[in-house]
Amino acid sequence: MESYKIQQHKFDVIVVGAGGAGLRATFGLAEKGLKTACITKVFPTRSHTVAAQGGIAAALGNMGEDDWRFHFYDTIKGSDWLGDQDAIEYMCREAIPSIYELEHYGVPFSRTDEGRIYQRPFGGMTTHYGKGTAQRTCAAADRTGHAILHTLYQQALAHDATFFIEYFAIDLIFDDEGVCRGVLALDMNEGTLHLFRGQAVVLATGGYGRAYFSATSAHTCTGDGGGMVLRAGLALQDLEFVQFHPTGIYGAGCLITEGVRGEGGYLTNSEGERFMERYAPSAKDLASRDVVSRAITIEVREGRGVGEHKDHAFLNLMHLGPEVIHERLPGIAESARIFAGVDVTKEPIPILPTVHYNMGGIPTNYHGEVVQKKGDDVDAVVPGLFAIGEAACVSVHGANRLGSNSLLDLVVFGRAVSHRCAEVIKPGAAHKDLPASALDKALARFDGLRHADGELPTAKIRLDMQRTMQTDAAVFRTGESLKEGCSKIDAVHASFKHVRTSDRSLVWNSDLIETLELANLLDQAVGTMHSAEQRPESRGAHAREDFPDRNDAEWMKHTLVKVDENGKASFDFRPVHMYTLTDEVEVVPPKKRVY
Ligand SMILES: Cc1cc2nc3c(=O)[nH]c(=O)nc-3n(C[C@H](O)[C@H](O)[C@H](O)COP(=O)(O)OP(=O)(O)OC[C@H]3O[C@@H](n4cnc5c(N)ncnc54)[C@H](O)[C@@H]3O)c2cc1C
Repeated sequence: MESYKIQQHKFDVIVVGAGGAGLRATFGLAEKGLKTACITKVFPTRSHTVAAQGGIAAALGNMGEDDWRFHFYDTIKGSDWLGDQDAIEYMCREAIPSIYELEHYGVPFSRTDEGRIYQRPFGGMTTHYGKGTAQRTCAAADRTGHAILHTLYQQALAHDATFFIEYFAIDLIFDDEGVCRGVLALDMNEGTLHLFRGQAVVLATGGYGRAYFSATSAHTCTGDGGGMVLRAGLALQDLEFVQFHPTGIYGAGCLITEGVRGEGGYLTNSEGERFMERYAPSAKDLASRDVVSRAITIEVREGRGVGEHKDHAFLNLMHLGPEVIHERLPGIAESARIFAGVDVTKEPIPILPTVHYNMGGIPTNYHGEVVQKKGDDVDAVVPGLFAIGEAACVSVHGANRLGSNSLLDLVVFGRAVSHRCAEVIKPGAAHKDLPASALDKALARFDGLRHADGELPTAKIRLDMQRTMQTDAAVFRTGESLKEGCSKIDAVHASFKHVRTSDRSLVWNSDLIETLELANLLDQAVGTMHSAEQRPESRGAHAREDFPDRNDAEWMKHTLVKVDENGKASFDFRPVHMYTLTDEVEVVPPKKRVY
């Protein structure tokens, strides 16, 4: 192995990732006087959060009656009772101050005539515990993520956080006691290796949508945080729950926001029928995402799909008129024109369910601290390690996320981490020495992949993985398809030992970066397929045709999966938190399910 020169940096806190979650944490930490570094593989404002269109939920009640308790109830119901109710309570309550903070930091929200933050209805959001429709989703036209990300980046710069841009985090560094002490990263531009030491490392690396062939997420969404956590021998939680967004543009996969249906858009099949009326008579086109995705899949299966291959559906917004479209949905009109060649004022958009969000991820408590099961302690904190945003599973989304609750999760828990770190970390505290061998494993793996000279190019293995996931860990699953999926994905994982990277340099070696990303994706693909196979029930986004019902007696629990270096998955479970933080809300028991 080549010997590498490593530059060392010392900070109070290291944040990996500069999406909405990473930036909210970075800025909050810096604001609290902690010396904070933010490492990101893409320029901050290019993170996937920039693509979020529809908006961010909070029960502000600007457009009608609302209450955070209604939001709490909807989120639990949306989660199909797999969400941790303490964390959900925290999120829905803290949503309100968090959004006002964003407004004060400068997020240019759309406005009502009275000058308040504009709010639109989104799927699954109700008033009075399922009775009315809530207008809860705060929006900056259809570019809410863009507006939030730019504002947070400006605030982080204003508060003197230090950015390491186009640095790729390779692995977490732990001491012998299992305390996370830092992260090893590659400066992609200079080709140099860096060890970032921190009293805490916050993973905010986003989802792993790119394990699938068709995904709305950016090509950078490769689950690097989850990969690092699995390699550290820790478990990920609830990976079987993958959200399909009902309206990805047919062929291209780009997202058409649920906000379109919130503004009055509706779906039709080949007979011109508004079929959602049959599947969800009251919520109709705004039923939750799993319900709409399954409805489209059934329509296509039963021969009522549109287009030459009868394999997709139409989303209609012509009736809204050019004015509303221009004012509220300008980005959508543009995406439809570019990616589907459609003028939305005259024609419907061809759409198909597309992978959109990972409910599962790195398990944490509502402070953002990573937790693991350790003997009798089911929520033992991993010292020095935090996770937030889509990379994490604080389990506010449970088995299915409601639209506009993710941007909320980013800012609420990004903020929570900054509060927690300010409580537990002393600014400028000395860093403990690391054992001499602390970096050995990470460096050996890095060097091995850099010089990998097998017969399979990275792109070939990646395509095999994406096709397998798309076919066998799909909207509908059966025991048979999942068994086959497990053996196929295991074979793809095994083929990784024959990977070849053809570029040996360290400067802008995209071949090497894609290989490191593929390794992260593969572990989570294996974790997802096997987690789905072992859960014999239907819950939220996990729809088993062979087990169509939810089984609360045996399966109202979180799956914990570890994937070892040979790609072998092993399982354990954590109970769902069926308790709240205060007595201002009642625990919502599954019996109350009403659709
Ligand atoms: C098209 C689209 C539209 C959406 N619309 C909405 C919406 O309207 N409302 C809503 O609530 N949710 C929406 N979502 C979901 C939501 O936007 C995402 O879940 C959320 O933005 C994820 O944010 P994040 O901060 O966790 O990660 P990301 O924004 O994905 O950022 C990840 C960061 O981690 C960094 N990173 C990753 N790996 C490494 C590494 N190895 N080394 C260094 N840095 C690394 C990246 O550089 C990046 O800065 C949408 C998602 C998509 C894909």
